[in-house]
Amino acid sequence: MIIVMEPSATDADVEHVITRIKELGLRPHLSKGVERTIIGVIGDERLIKREQFSLLPHVENVIPILKPYKLSSRDFKPTDSIIDVAGVKVGGKNVVIMAGPCAVETEEQLMTTAEAVKASGASLLRGGAYKPRTSPYAFQGLGEDGLKLLAQAREKTGLAIVTEVMESAEVELVAEYADLVQVGARNMQNTHLLRSLCKIHKPVLLKRNFSATLSEFLMSAEYLLSGGNDQVILCERGIRTFVEYTRNTLDLNVVPAVKQLSHLPIIVDPSHGTGRHDLILPMSRAAIAAGADGLIIEVHPNPAEAFSDGDQSLTPAAFQQLMKEVRAIAAAVGRSLN
Ligand code: PEP
Ligand code: MN
Repeated sequence: MIIVMEPSATDADVEHVITRIKELGLRPHLSKGVERTIIGVIGDERLIKREQFSLLPHVENVIPILKPYKLSSRDFKPTDSIIDVAGVKVGGKNVVIMAGPCAVETEEQLMTTAEAVKASGASLLRGGAYKPRTSPYAFQGLGEDGLKLLAQAREKTGLAIVTEVMESAEVELVAEYADLVQVGARNMQNTHLLRSLCKIHKPVLLKRNFSATLSEFLMSAEYLLSGGNDQVILCERGIRTFVEYTRNTLDLNVVPAVKQLSHLPIIVDPSHGTGRHDLILPMSRAAIAAGADGLIIEVHPNPAEAFSDGDQSLTPAAFQQLMKEVRAIAAAVGRSLN
């Protein structure tokens, strides 16, 4: 439920409403706009009757939110959220490109990639230090040493860092190094991990699980927002279908659907979405044309030798070409790539 205060409402009127919400065992979420203050009521809506609030002084309107996700819904916040990642603004008119290797492998591999993606115009460097691999025998990532290399690459290039956290116990450590903390597809519904991420003061990149409905995806975002971290960027990275030709089916439908249902920005990962380096460019163009707020792309100086996901990694030269084409698409749909 949303309580919209009249423009003439004073701080005391707002405080009065908040006190009532707390008395009912519910939680207030205050959002002060230029013209109006809006108070979200979080908790079991069965405990609330509209009149309990509509008759309070200077309450303009009480609007029930029927969707299961509340704070992440556009009903709650009609304007696009813009998430600040170490000075890089994700959302609104901007198109932001994140690029780098699937996994941090060596200092040389990471620095070469970082310099290359920076030169082509990426704003964030991606790279996994903790890798969720299908096989326990596969490379699992460098752990904290990988985080240190990412910090070194940021120092050298000025690129902000996005990297994955897999466990609650590692949240503090990863958040110390990362500018944007990634929740991988496999952990989208790890509610314990999501709760741990509410306590950090870093934005979160929430990747959609390959079997999650859009509603489940937004409910996971709701865990973060309701827990106190409203710095959330969504990421579509492909879902499981009967299709065998590609690793996943990139569900670009969710881009405009998320724009209708939520105020949160959404970026697209055509690397995991296709699993094929030759499909990354056309699907990147399509994603930006569909309204995505950015892309996250795997780039490796020598994909054939990559420890993971070489098949879906671009060479620096292919990435440079992609940036050129994506820039043109962004301009054509009234967006700017910074
Ligand atoms: C990744 O981005 O490296 C990754 C493992 O992605 P996902 O969680 O989408 O599979
Ligand atoms: Mn990968």
